[in-house]
Amino acid sequence: MKEILLCKYGEILLKGANKRYFEDTLTRELRIRARCYGNFDVYRAQSTLYVEPKDESADVDGMFEAARKVFGIVSVGRSVMCEKNMDAICELAKTYLPEKLSGKRTFKVEGRRSDKSFPLGSIEISREVGGAILSVCPWLKVDVHNPDVVVRVEIRELGAYVHAGQMKGAGGIPVGTGGKGMLLLSGGIDSPVAGYMMAKRGMKLEAVYFESFPYTSEQAREKVMELARLVAVYSGPIDLHVISLTEIQEALVKACEEDYFTLLLRRYMMAIADKLAEKYGCQALITGESLGQVASQTPMALHVTNILANRPVFRPCIGMDKEEIVQIAYKIGTFETSILPYEDCCTVFTPKHPRTKPELSKVEAQEKRLDFDAYVERALESIQTYRITAQY
Ligand code: ATP
Ligand code: MG
Repeated sequence: MKEILLCKYGEILLKGANKRYFEDTLTRELRIRARCYGNFDVYRAQSTLYVEPKDESADVDGMFEAARKVFGIVSVGRSVMCEKNMDAICELAKTYLPEKLSGKRTFKVEGRRSDKSFPLGSIEISREVGGAILSVCPWLKVDVHNPDVVVRVEIRELGAYVHAGQMKGAGGIPVGTGGKGMLLLSGGIDSPVAGYMMAKRGMKLEAVYFESFPYTSEQAREKVMELARLVAVYSGPIDLHVISLTEIQEALVKACEEDYFTLLLRRYMMAIADKLAEKYGCQALITGESLGQVASQTPMALHVTNILANRPVFRPCIGMDKEEIVQIAYKIGTFETSILPYEDCCTVFTPKHPRTKPELSKVEAQEKRLDFDAYVERALESIQTYRITAQY
């Protein structure tokens, strides 16, 4: 029996005049995924995206899971289509559903008729199909209030669909509809989550990772590449830029007071990320900062770094507890990689007493001990770019 997938989208429906643009972007994203799972037709009708296998080689199970990770889709259902007459629909329900309903105790049928020329109303459709199911699944009972499973039968333009339940999709809005963001991606828990959250709001991602070889290792870089790959499952391909901060860190250690070291380093990161954002057409920067998590994430410390950005800095984790961030990291599959114990450039030469209420003027006075712009330019020359694509 040929199962097809019906993907429903939510927020896009509210987009009024721009709805078409959002729908087109979503369709394109789904098609890119579908290509990895075999020969599928992806088309839309009545605010639903249909993913239909065209031959035996198409991996419907794989595509089902992949579709659930596409932002903009709120639910994905598996269903089988037949002709729009009650005999065909009941026959299909009797052959398709028993296996899907084994292990369930109660059910109800929800008939829906969006093709108003169909002679039966939704209540009659539900009653007839319910009877057909009971005739082949004697272990089931009808429960209209709190059923284990809801069987949907829809009479649509293209045919009649019998659904075997649906699962939640990724939600959000399609990637590409919210501009492009430059994610400051470290090897930690927070920044991959921050990237995921902004991609969910439609941002295409580009990323920058700052390393400090030989103080940070080749494995640390590979770990960040793996994190980018995991985020790319949701966001689509990410161009990851790797920038060396070794020279800057060594100079800072020699020239500046230790207490200011982390802040000064973070100012370099912000300035460099901002320059990259300009070069690669990103309208925003994204970080995994969370208020009060560490000394460099107090309001005053954030101000000292924020001031160097010439565009909005999105910090989706700012109001979240670590526990909440960890939960998302688990859900999206980055946690296990994030906790691998490789050092980050922020953790080499860390001061014992970092400033938590830094004054901008004092930070700037420290900074003047080095030629800031020249160091930024030289760091930018160290750029290495990798195109990171996920295995969907
Ligand atoms: P995480 O590393 O997961 O983001 P954290 O608690 O380690 O969390 P910090 O090290 O203080 O946070 O860094 C705050 C933010 O600065 C990070 O979320 C990230 O956006 C950025 N950042 C820190 N280190 C780097 C780095 N080496 N390369 C790129 N961005 C970085
Ligand atoms: Mg970190």
